[in-house]
Amino acid sequence: MPDGAPTTPLIEQYERVKARYPGHLVLFRVGDFFETFGDDAKLLSRELEVVLTARGADASGQRTPMAGVPHHAVDAYLGRLVRKGYKVALCDQVEDARVATGLVRREVTRVVTPGTVVEDRILGGPDHNFLASVVLPPDAPAGYSCVDITTGEWFRGEAEEPGVDGALAALAPFQPSEVLVAGLGSPVGSGLAGALHRELPRSRIEAAPAPSPERPAFLSAVAGAVATIESDDRLAAYVRQTQPRLLPYLEVVASGPSARRLRLDAKTLRHLEIVRPMNPDDPSGPTLLSTWDETVTAPGRRTLSFWLRNPLADVDAIQERLDAVDALAAQGSGLLLLRAALGPTPDLARVATRVAGRRVRPPELAALRDGLAAAERARDRLAATATVPTLRRLVVGLDPIPKLGALLRTALPDQPPPTADAGGLFRPGYAAGLDALADAEAGGLRALEALERAEQTATGLRGLRVGYNQVFGYYFEVSRSNAARVPPHFRRKQTLASSERFTSDELARIEESILTARERRRDEEGRAWETFLSEVETFVPAVHRLSRSVGEIDALAAFALIAQERRLVRPVVDGSRALSVRDGRHPVLDRSLESGFVPNDTDLDGEGERLLVLTGPNMSGKSTYMRQVGLLVVLAQAGSFVPAKFAHVGVVGALFTRMGFTDEIGRGKSSFMVEMTEVAEILRAADDRSLVLLDEVGRGTSTFDGLAIAWATLRHLHDAIGCRTILATHYHQLTELVEGLAHARNAHLGVQESDGALVFLHRLVPGSTDRSYGLHVAQRAGLPSPLIAEAQRTLKRLESEGAAVAPASRRAAPTRYTQGVLLAAADPAPSEAEEALRALDPATMTPVDALRWVAEWHRRLRGIRAAPP
Ligand code: ADP
Repeated sequence: MPDGAPTTPLIEQYERVKARYPGHLVLFRVGDFFETFGDDAKLLSRELEVVLTARGADASGQRTPMAGVPHHAVDAYLGRLVRKGYKVALCDQVEDARVATGLVRREVTRVVTPGTVVEDRILGGPDHNFLASVVLPPDAPAGYSCVDITTGEWFRGEAEEPGVDGALAALAPFQPSEVLVAGLGSPVGSGLAGALHRELPRSRIEAAPAPSPERPAFLSAVAGAVATIESDDRLAAYVRQTQPRLLPYLEVVASGPSARRLRLDAKTLRHLEIVRPMNPDDPSGPTLLSTWDETVTAPGRRTLSFWLRNPLADVDAIQERLDAVDALAAQGSGLLLLRAALGPTPDLARVATRVAGRRVRPPELAALRDGLAAAERARDRLAATATVPTLRRLVVGLDPIPKLGALLRTALPDQPPPTADAGGLFRPGYAAGLDALADAEAGGLRALEALERAEQTATGLRGLRVGYNQVFGYYFEVSRSNAARVPPHFRRKQTLASSERFTSDELARIEESILTARERRRDEEGRAWETFLSEVETFVPAVHRLSRSVGEIDALAAFALIAQERRLVRPVVDGSRALSVRDGRHPVLDRSLESGFVPNDTDLDGEGERLLVLTGPNMSGKSTYMRQVGLLVVLAQAGSFVPAKFAHVGVVGALFTRMGFTDEIGRGKSSFMVEMTEVAEILRAADDRSLVLLDEVGRGTSTFDGLAIAWATLRHLHDAIGCRTILATHYHQLTELVEGLAHARNAHLGVQESDGALVFLHRLVPGSTDRSYGLHVAQRAGLPSPLIAEAQRTLKRLESEGAAVAPASRRAAPTRYTQGVLLAAADPAPSEAEEALRALDPATMTPVDALRWVAEWHRRLRGIRAAPP
């Protein structure tokens, strides 16, 4: 609270809680609202667009800013806050405001952070929600751990290379919503935190807690680098602080260096629009995930999303997945039946986690019961046709946990009530004590009805009714006009505008019996529910495993369905460095372009022609082509068939892209600086198994600087790294240089000019093009026609001036380029005096003519350069 702001006992209580939860937004229950005060109120009002008001006033008339949200809708607001990266402490009233003397007691009942939420309404979708930790030692690769506490999956390992780049690359595919960084104060740590903020702008980044002394059992058997073990321990300490009940249900599912995965850094994931569209203004635009998501269950969707962010880089593992997809695709209607069987499965893993965290709602358990039955049907379908190892493994994995199924079926009614305190949680016959209490309550209610009928008959008042409300309990109600006709044993309880309410000894006795039975039934039901949940909890690890198998079979079935329906081909994947594609199509545009997508070939080979320089005007399809090549590799290595007639993918170890400037503008770096930083990162990390896609290099500076950098970059990729590369450029000079390189080739995207208009063919053609058609594109874009006409005149003049020297410099070019001198294009146009000198024939001139010529030019040049005062 700012100095001098007014304090009241309530605000003081709030400040005490704030002090205990530093870095948290404290939502403070006051009546029907969760309120915030002071700076937090301003923040809440800004982030959630809720009204900012003010409260109280001290002697000087100052008021405290205040903003709040209704308590019944708090989950929805919590979801928005954690997605924006806030940590929230919910401080609730822990005594009844009606009976409290003085200030109501309040306590923090729940802490919600982006990486530790488990409620569906806050998570907002089935995709993994990772909480990560990373420990970066000064001179070794970072150790990292990532956990999705909603599914119990714990991934850990070492980055592939030391330093910040390696740490970022290891974390990127997890897209963690919260990252704990160790050693934040050290130079290494703070550099990493800054880089994480840039790379993962949606994540919450903060210092990791100290490791707790006791290691949880699930980590006792794993080995690894010191940094990884330290990272595990810190992450476990944080889970212990925030979600202690879930700690026993975590399980290491992947451990070791990340080398068996195709490395995709955060930029590449963004540029290729794998799970999120690039354009922030169109968050629902199509992505690879949205185009490939034919899954029918939440675990399936989660698995698919993870596979596309984490394609494999191990030939055998890829073949196994492709075999499974192939086998499923061959089943025809069997595939449809399998998908239909899976269809009603809920998010099994998350329901189980919510059981362990005691945040489960009864209908979710009914869904779990039905989901187990669905898994059983899917298993039986699959068992009949499982011909390959992956599918046979999944038949075993789809164990429908019969004991849990039986427990849920005997305990739960067909449709349980929406909340656990509503009553009617169990099927009659499940808990004998509970049934007796429920009978007593029902008996009381029947006695009430009988009493109502008896009093109606005795008094002759047909309108006499028994009613109930929370404050007054049960009563007889008659209209005011009839109030005088009630019998003497009725005692007045309450007078309303149009009616009177009464009680009687008999009514009070029945009321007492009903309320006692009801209270005992509630207590008993609460206890039985807790016992039941503890019993269900013993099956949590089994449900987590089943959920993973459901996810895997659903994702494979989605790949198979797409393979059948979209004219895809099984890629040939091996350990070579080939990348050949016949009639490849962009997986997303191929589905969305109404005008039809033009397929193209790719022929790269690490051993042979591995570098392709692409030219062609803007809008001709250069970046589409590069993305298409990248996406085909991602799909093939994720185990999917690909949109092409034929594809041969020699496994790619890392895929790097650099495209466009839009990304980081506004984050305080010049676009050229950003471009160079990105190129530097790629050159540091790429090796001969990488695929590098560069859309323009060296555009953000002067032409010669840029050209020189582009050429040197290209040489470095070609000679030193030797990776497969596609580079799109407007520097036509580069294409001439390429001809001197052993492993490089030019291609361009064809255009046709007809009647002055430009037609983009989107077809890849060998060789370079020397025209940019920039004016055509500018005209299409709607620049005013006088401006275009002026530009055309200027272009003509520039071209004709250039033509005067072009033959000489063109002829000189090849030798000068191969000597590594890049200045042919840099020769400035010759001056008029040079031209005149060149035109002279000294052999036929007299000395006087020569002197006259010199004098004339001397005068002219002085006249131009040194204008008289
Ligand atoms: P560039 O990078 O050369 O400026 P883009 O790759 O952005 O061009 O392509 C511009 C537009 O052309 C795309 O948005 C798409 O609509 C269309 N396009 C590109 N490639 C193809 C293709 N192979 N078939 C059909 N349309 C294409």
